[in-house]
Amino acid sequence: LSDEQLQFIINHAEDKLVFVDSSLLGQLETVQESCPTVERFVVIDEQNQMPETPLRGALEYEALLQSGDPDFNPPEPHEQAAAAMCYTSGTTGDPKGVVYSQRSIYLHTLGVMIGDGIGLRQRDTVLPFVPMFHANAWGVAHAALMAGSKLVLPGPGPGPADLAMLMEKEQVTLAAGVPTIWNMLYQYLKQNPQTDVSSVETLVVGGSAAPRAMIRNYAREFGITILHLWGMTEMSPLGTVSRPKAHMLDWDEERLLDVRMKQGMPAPGVEIRVQDDKDQTLPWDGETIGELAVRGPWVARAYYNNPAASKAFTADGWFKTGDVVTIDPEGYMQIADRTKDLIKSGGEWISSVDMENAIMARDDVLEACVVARPDDKWDERPVAFVVRAAGGSDSPTPQDIFDHLAGQFAKWQVPYLEDIHFIEAVPKTSVGKFDKKVLRGQLS
Ligand code: AMP
Repeated sequence: LSDEQLQFIINHAEDKLVFVDSSLLGQLETVQESCPTVERFVVIDEQNQMPETPLRGALEYEALLQSGDPDFNPPEPHEQAAAAMCYTSGTTGDPKGVVYSQRSIYLHTLGVMIGDGIGLRQRDTVLPFVPMFHANAWGVAHAALMAGSKLVLPGPGPGPADLAMLMEKEQVTLAAGVPTIWNMLYQYLKQNPQTDVSSVETLVVGGSAAPRAMIRNYAREFGITILHLWGMTEMSPLGTVSRPKAHMLDWDEERLLDVRMKQGMPAPGVEIRVQDDKDQTLPWDGETIGELAVRGPWVARAYYNNPAASKAFTADGWFKTGDVVTIDPEGYMQIADRTKDLIKSGGEWISSVDMENAIMARDDVLEACVVARPDDKWDERPVAFVVRAAGGSDSPTPQDIFDHLAGQFAKWQVPYLEDIHFIEAVPKTSVGKFDKKVLRGQLS
């Protein structure tokens, strides 16, 4: 997180006690003056050493535990009592706080564990490559403990080589992360064929759409299933999971990929609906696009201390997600875009996600991000930022991308040649999603 975001979150939540890893002391020392509610900082250090620090009332974690009363009886909280808070990653505006109750975390943990959820078992070795501040590492932080799975934590700033090494050494069976990570790991595995990741059965992908090529490549080349799921901080976060149903299992590869690419069916207890801007429900025909609304035992009822943003929550428990989706007759939801990321050109919509997926389906492309730029004639036009798979090469060219898209999209939807740019890497948010705000900023 940036200093500004960290400061905003600490002040908004009115934190009194902050637990900090010693690797992050420098940043907190800068921020602490602007955080008057914090009474004490507790430093967690691998060597159990208290580093020199000007942090207010600083205590070392192990020493703090030692000083405790061994006969202390912890209170038993009410199931509706607040247990934890997470903040949204704030790709637009300030982060928004969500409070989870003891009850909602418990129910969500069961939802993550069941077979058609993430399906965690005691015999799994789980590597969450998703930070705990991001919706409690998607619930894996709790579910792995409840299941009794072995948990492998990758530590600060690991790269694809560290991930591959951990998978091999610890015999990881299931890992969870955003698509960017699994893209990087895939490139690494291709370049280092001696790496043995045969223990890995499932890579859980969420946070952004899993590209079709990635699902296909992992299955074909490594026998690894990409389990695509969708969720939000506001939903603890599990919303939907994409698994083919029994009657689909004999479908051919391409048809199954159509299913696995979708964000999936709601987890038990979660209701979903697609609705228009007057909150009227729309048909589940796989074509009609509308906003997704959700309701369920682990869906928040409001943002913490933020009445303006809390208008997204209705009195009867529905939360308007801001995701624009279709739902097919089988009940699989597919994201077309975020409401704010859809591109409106000449009065018609272009899905940035569809276009990104199409570009990323090329073997010579590592990442692609599509945003809107203002246009006098058409209101908005799509701009594609593309990262080449082979850094330093000049292939593909803008013309290659243009021709590739022209074969799949209506003519008016394809970006102009001069709107196709090549960059070194797509800027990412703190949780590894494409940061479209930064790219839009570069256009103005
Ligand atoms: P956050 O609360 O920061 O995890 O952000 C939630 C948002 O991430 C959702 O509203 C979606 O826009 C996006 N998101 C999460 N999972 C997926 C997915 N599998 N495919 C596409 N977008 C996703």
